[in-house]
Amino acid sequence: TYSLGPKISNWDQDRKAWLVQNSEFPSHVKGKPRILLVTGSPPKPCDNAIGDHYLLKSIKNKIDYCRIHGIEIVYNMAHLDKELAGYWAKLPLLRRLMLSHPEVEWIWWMDSDAMFTDMVFEIPVSKYDNFNLVVHGYPDLMFNQKSWIALNTGSFLFRNCQWSLDLLDAWAPMGPKGPVREEAGKILTANLKGRPAFEADDQSALIYLLLSHKDQWMDKVFLENQYYLHGYWAGLVDRYEEMMEKYHPGLGDERWPFVTHFVGCKPCGSYGDYPVERCLKSMERAFNFADNQVLKLYGFGHRGLLSPKIKRIRNETAAPLEFVDQFDIRRPMPDKS
Ligand code: UDP
Ligand code: MN
Repeated sequence: TYSLGPKISNWDQDRKAWLVQNSEFPSHVKGKPRILLVTGSPPKPCDNAIGDHYLLKSIKNKIDYCRIHGIEIVYNMAHLDKELAGYWAKLPLLRRLMLSHPEVEWIWWMDSDAMFTDMVFEIPVSKYDNFNLVVHGYPDLMFNQKSWIALNTGSFLFRNCQWSLDLLDAWAPMGPKGPVREEAGKILTANLKGRPAFEADDQSALIYLLLSHKDQWMDKVFLENQYYLHGYWAGLVDRYEEMMEKYHPGLGDERWPFVTHFVGCKPCGSYGDYPVERCLKSMERAFNFADNQVLKLYGFGHRGLLSPKIKRIRNETAAPLEFVDQFDIRRPMPDKS
């Protein structure tokens, strides 16, 4: 049967010893756990040039967020394991990164079609001290409704530990392309509410695993829904103007969503669930909404949420340092909420 690699069973002790011997690579920096954000896209160009343009905007958006918050970033375009191509590619990649970066405490997967839309909000990481997997989701949808959208695997965090390696091992067997993935898809559709008939996907497989082995895994899984670790775009993108009117970045929830995820849009591939024009327009709005928060430090902003053009939002000054203090979004904000 399929396996992600040689069985590793002593990772927690081995990693701990490595950290002691390599004190120049600490797992915590300034009291905060080291976080590595991982994203990626297929090895080949998109079917359409505009798809590649939005992949570029999406990685720029992530670079901006990660620079501001001291998070390291990996962009992967390789299929490390050809059996796990497509949306399953994140599994062997996450395992590889955990093993090659023992200094990283949390690995954060984010889809290429998800963007940060709150550039100020930070993951409340100490809330997860006793957990190993953090994923956006709802316990009721999960355990009462067994819904295939009970959680979303477009943005989630794994602690670098033995438990996570074990979970990846338990998660992977439905992934191999071909008959295995096809047959597994039937099991998932039969067991998960609302799931259309198609091959096994990583999200349904994770829900099914956690449902069927609840006692084994759930005590270390945090289903987060206090803020949008993943936020479904359709309910958010038309409200950005209203948000700018009423609220401010740093909230992360429906008032100012942390992440906007373009579920069902496939600007890089051929068939999505929504018209491609609506997707592209919405992605442009999300990008500019976020980019305005970045450009503010430099005294600029987009002319509108659909415009790549920018305008000055304040005059040049002979006392630039005043503005550094005032507009650097890494600094705690005067309380406006
Ligand atoms: N992905 C990748 N390599 C691939 C296919 C997908 O890195 O060959 C990543 C990409 O970041 C994508 C995510 O896996 O956003 C989820 O894949 P899916 O097909 O669900 O794409 P989405 O609908 O999220 O764009
Ligand atoms: Mn996605």
